[in-house]
Amino acid sequence: MQKSIERIVGDSEGVSYEFPVLRFDGSDKAASSAYLQAALHAGELPGVVAIDALMPMLEKAEAEGRIKGNITVVPQANPIGRAQYHFGEHQGRFHLGTRTNFNRGFPLLAAPDPTLLPDATSGTADQRLKTRLLLLSIGHDIVLDLHCDDEGLAYLYVHTSLWPAMADCAAAMGVDAVILWDEDTDGTFEGASITPYLNLPADVARFDRRVATTVEYRGILDVDGALAGSDAEGLYRLLVARGVILDQALSTPGSFTGVVAPLENIDMMPAPRAGAVLYDVKPGDRVAKGALLATIVHAPGEAGGRTQVFAPQAGIILTRRSRRIIRAGEDLLKLVGDSKSADARSGTLED
Ligand SMILES: [Zn+2]
Repeated sequence: MQKSIERIVGDSEGVSYEFPVLRFDGSDKAASSAYLQAALHAGELPGVVAIDALMPMLEKAEAEGRIKGNITVVPQANPIGRAQYHFGEHQGRFHLGTRTNFNRGFPLLAAPDPTLLPDATSGTADQRLKTRLLLLSIGHDIVLDLHCDDEGLAYLYVHTSLWPAMADCAAAMGVDAVILWDEDTDGTFEGASITPYLNLPADVARFDRRVATTVEYRGILDVDGALAGSDAEGLYRLLVARGVILDQALSTPGSFTGVVAPLENIDMMPAPRAGAVLYDVKPGDRVAKGALLATIVHAPGEAGGRTQVFAPQAGIILTRRSRRIIRAGEDLLKLVGDSKSADARSGTLED
């Protein structure tokens, strides 16, 4: 394993940011290569500790000569967001300098060609970080971007072009659900990882061996040693299933038995009132149409001071908020419905 340091110059004199990149050289140029990054939203740490648990497994494979494809690992992809504390609270989702989400605004290239990337020295520090991360990842067959939700199941976002070919990956990782999408106008990292291949001939794009996914490793509080260990095993199984690592002790993944649904089936349930949220459901619950999802206490102690929110359709609760304070119009949860949501959103679900 080789370690190198990437450096992003800050937007003012005397400020710069650094993050390590860990690389393993594969022995077989024809084998699939893999890129893993975590904490693009800098405070989302379940993927960081999963990578920490994965590294000894990769080092053992390397010592035993079992690494076939090149592997690039960026355990903490966002040193800018990592340093952002605002009145004592960490803010790792948006760049404070530009108010831009760290997982939006990636360049959507017409082809997987690094020369099409913007000038790596222009733009604000967060834009230059995005260009650098894309440059590090481009050309890998497998690109995994490890995030987490507020409170939630383990699930993947996958572009429709990669499904069901990626079902083996979902099974290997042991996630609960897969959300399929087909439109990215905002430039997520995942979108920037798959878009360059969408207009290529099928024999060049090779969707049968390509992987690009945003991995949502449950909730932001699910930073846990046991979960990190099982997630690392899931990542390892994926790398073995796709031939990046050789491990004859592992069997091929079975079929994926979790929930698979298009993005348009998700109901985000905007809150009708502001107040304190009392949830009646949790991630993983199956709900019927009309089931009580949550009660919002907006005028405590007063007649009519509570407003109930009901399921618009049957489905599975995928996520809910980690905080219990809510403003009117903010989303209460993600309900993966059995059919298209009347409030279906295209592109990204959240800001
Ligand atoms: Zn995230």
